[in-house]
Amino acid sequence: MENLNQELEYKKMFRLLFDENPISLWEEDFSVVKQIIDKKKTEIDDFKIYIDNNPDFVSECISKIKIYKVNNSSLDLFGAKNKENLITHLSNTFNEKSFETFKNLLLTLASGKTKFSEATEYVKTNGEIFNAIIQFIILNDYKNVIVSITDISEQIKNENKLKIQNEKLIHAQYISKIGDFTWNIVSGKVTWSSGMFQLLKYDFNEKINYEKVNQKIHHPDDLERVTNWLMKSIASKNKPIEPYEYRLVRKDGEIIDVKTNGRVEFKDGKAIKFFGTCQDISEQKGSEQKLKIQNDEYAALNEEYKAQNEKLLLAMEIAIENEIEQQLLFSNMSTGFAFHKIIVDKNNKAIDYKFIKVNETFEQLTGLLAINLIGKKVSIALPEIEKDTVDWIAIYGKVAITGKAITFNNYSEALNKWFSINAYSPQKGYFVTIFEDISNQKFAEEKIKQQNQEYAELIKELTASEEELRAANEELVNAKNSAEEKELQLQLITDNFVSGMIYQVTMLDENTKKFNYVSDAVNKLYGCTPDEAKENPDLIYGKIHKDDISDLIKKEKEALRTMSVLKSETRVINPDGSTRWSYYVSKPRVNKGLVCWDGIELDITEHKKIEQELIIAKEKAEESDQLKTEFINNMSHEIRTPMNGILGFSEFLNKPNLSDIKQKQYITIIQNSGHQLMRIINDILEISKLGTKQVKTIEKPVCLNDLLLEHFSIFDIKAKESKIPLYYKKGLSDINSTIFTDETKINKIISNLLENALKYTNEGFIEFGYKLIKHKGDSNIQIYVKDTGIGIKPEKQESIFIRFSQEEKELSKNVGGLGLGLSIAKENAELLGGNIIVKSEKGKGSIFFITIPYNPVNSEPEKNKPSITKNQVSIKNHTVLIVEDEEVNHLYIDTLLENFDLNLNTLHAKNGQEAVEICKQNNEIDIVLMDLKMPIMNGYEATKLIKEFCPDLPIIAQTAYTVQADKDKAKAAGCVDFISKPIYEKALNEIIKKYLK
Ligand code: ADP
Repeated sequence: MENLNQELEYKKMFRLLFDENPISLWEEDFSVVKQIIDKKKTEIDDFKIYIDNNPDFVSECISKIKIYKVNNSSLDLFGAKNKENLITHLSNTFNEKSFETFKNLLLTLASGKTKFSEATEYVKTNGEIFNAIIQFIILNDYKNVIVSITDISEQIKNENKLKIQNEKLIHAQYISKIGDFTWNIVSGKVTWSSGMFQLLKYDFNEKINYEKVNQKIHHPDDLERVTNWLMKSIASKNKPIEPYEYRLVRKDGEIIDVKTNGRVEFKDGKAIKFFGTCQDISEQKGSEQKLKIQNDEYAALNEEYKAQNEKLLLAMEIAIENEIEQQLLFSNMSTGFAFHKIIVDKNNKAIDYKFIKVNETFEQLTGLLAINLIGKKVSIALPEIEKDTVDWIAIYGKVAITGKAITFNNYSEALNKWFSINAYSPQKGYFVTIFEDISNQKFAEEKIKQQNQEYAELIKELTASEEELRAANEELVNAKNSAEEKELQLQLITDNFVSGMIYQVTMLDENTKKFNYVSDAVNKLYGCTPDEAKENPDLIYGKIHKDDISDLIKKEKEALRTMSVLKSETRVINPDGSTRWSYYVSKPRVNKGLVCWDGIELDITEHKKIEQELIIAKEKAEESDQLKTEFINNMSHEIRTPMNGILGFSEFLNKPNLSDIKQKQYITIIQNSGHQLMRIINDILEISKLGTKQVKTIEKPVCLNDLLLEHFSIFDIKAKESKIPLYYKKGLSDINSTIFTDETKINKIISNLLENALKYTNEGFIEFGYKLIKHKGDSNIQIYVKDTGIGIKPEKQESIFIRFSQEEKELSKNVGGLGLGLSIAKENAELLGGNIIVKSEKGKGSIFFITIPYNPVNSEPEKNKPSITKNQVSIKNHTVLIVEDEEVNHLYIDTLLENFDLNLNTLHAKNGQEAVEICKQNNEIDIVLMDLKMPIMNGYEATKLIKEFCPDLPIIAQTAYTVQADKDKAKAAGCVDFISKPIYEKALNEIIKKYLK
């Protein structure tokens, strides 16, 4: 009981684990597939090559998978409506990749391994493809294969995202001239990203000794300060690290300026990793440098211009003639130069300015032509200036009015150029602007700035997605671990798995139930889906065996009354129509005012079968024990009776003055008792011999006719003593009845059966004989022994063949016997390659049939004398009816007629009444040989009656009476002739010939 509970518990757990598992689980049967593979392996050399080239074979294998069940997660995963849909369209879930996976699974099966897993793809019912890990665990000789399918699409997506991000990063690093490196502080190992390789112009595939390279790549003047910065960064713990600029030396020797950003990773308060990025800022540096130099140059120039202008303006002031000289100066300048006069209002506020002079470079840089400017006010020459966000007139006015020089950079949208502008006033009211196109530097700077910003954003995004991925991965690992754990549990439980289901049913009223839940096993147990069962509870209740319904209802009422557990062993009809035993355990509870039952059903057919077998075995053991006890009692009775006779009458023989008659009587009794004892001993010896299974058959030619006739003559004496007529009917001619068989064994069978027939028949008759039976090319001899005795009850008709068994003990005690005769007959018949059966009706009689193979010695049929049976009347020329109550006489006449070569068919009537009946039914009778003195109806009477409806039929009286009066009487009755008993062959021949037409 404890084991059963435990088992139930396991099964419950298993069902829950299976049905409700978040992972897609399938239970399948691969035994047929395995057989196909194993067969194919014997036919071909290389199985792998074979399945690579024979997709049809693979498809066949797919079609041969038997799916027991799939859980709910599987439906969700594949987006299937229901299980049938999923199972019947299984091949739709395969794409090229899953097909390949299945091929690999077949290879695994072929190798005999019991586990398989692979990452693959499957197709949902809506056509969407998903990534999955499929795992197979093969149990129970391929009959139970547990398959789990884990959807890893999310993981793959994340991996892809990471890959793209990485590619993006590499790309970004490439365009931003950024490389990154990781320095494992604990191991000292340094790794470079591809960007780093690029930055330092090392070959990506090159094997690098980072320790040596570290010395090489750092500018010797910077190495020490870089090392110090690194140490400081590590020591700074969580404080942000300041970017650091220094120089690196490329493989080709070129020196570059780099800026390094870094982050230190800590574990348990210890620095373990330094992650750094390295950006090439040479260009930026270069432009800054250049700009600085240029600015210095400008400043110097400024000074120079100032001095020059002072002179110039002095000259201007003195004489306009100096213009030419000035012009020369302008033209030669490599920077743009423009000379203006400021126009002020009365408040001395600059309101406009006028172009006085521009040089060629100015024209080139600005794209404006001197002729369109000179002498013109800026508001007229360049009207857009007023709309500019910068108030140029005010700025330049200030320079012209205050004499304070300014330097600034300005971007011209119209020209898409950057200018470095220097403005000064050579003379009050005048100002000069000097232009330098710095677009190239500016754009380089701008680009770096923009890239830096992009890069910073990217880093930010990456760090975030790195976190996200790490969390996602952690979740996946956890899920995988718990799935593995569950799978292990599942595997354990699967070993103990027997089908059963869980259900929950609510009683809407006394007669109406509704299932809230039924587990998937309902499919196997009731042939319907859980949804169908929920829809129609009759699909379940209707399957309960009609004889068990009332018991179940009774138990249900009782459980309901006491609100206790219901337990019931009930028969249920399986979907295939067979009957199973189910064990229901269920408990009622009240839920929202209604009674609700939570229960499980377990198929316990196997248990029941074993239980039943045990009961039968127990009964058999008891029975055989009882049989033995009875046998011993019986035997003591059986042996004591003749022994008493022998001992008692031997004693009497000693008596003096014993008369001769008495003496003879006593000796006969002693002899009979001796024979009886002998028979018992023989039976016991025979049965113990048969028990050793050492008995062999010795086949020799045996004439069945002779053998049975011999039995007839022996048993006829006993039959006469009991006043029970014994008849014998032969089925074949002597030649055809000669067969190869074991004579002693046939003797034992026949004598036991005849002995029983005599023993158990008080009135009527006994008949035995045989016939040839041909069936589907097999020829058998069927011997029968028929009696009109007490008969055997139907329930005993099988057991009487078991050793020591008797139908009625008391009766057998009276007639004597150990219950061994029939078992000896049966075992001998089986040794001859045959069998024995009985047909019997209590009170009416029995008929025993023994069938043995027909192995004729003369395989050629007799030419002149074809075998004749009564079933073959049509091939006979003439029919003779022998009316004779004395079987010996009948046999004698029959044998004589057979020897006449007249192709005669014989019929036999045992009395006058039978003779009349046979003649009525058979109009082919040519002659009747009529005995006159017979029981039931004598010959005279019978002849009279036959003559009434068959006046022309010659009836010959056979009589021992030679008295004339009898002859007359017979003639008067209708006999045409007489034949005297004992009948002589010659006389019979003549008389038959005489009356045969
Ligand atoms: P037994 O020695 O008791 O006759 P058998 O093995 O020959 O043992 O027969 C077993 C039992 O079968 C008998 O006890 C009897 O009950 C029943 N039986 C056998 N033959 C006949 C028969 N011809 N008619 C009725 N009952 C028979």
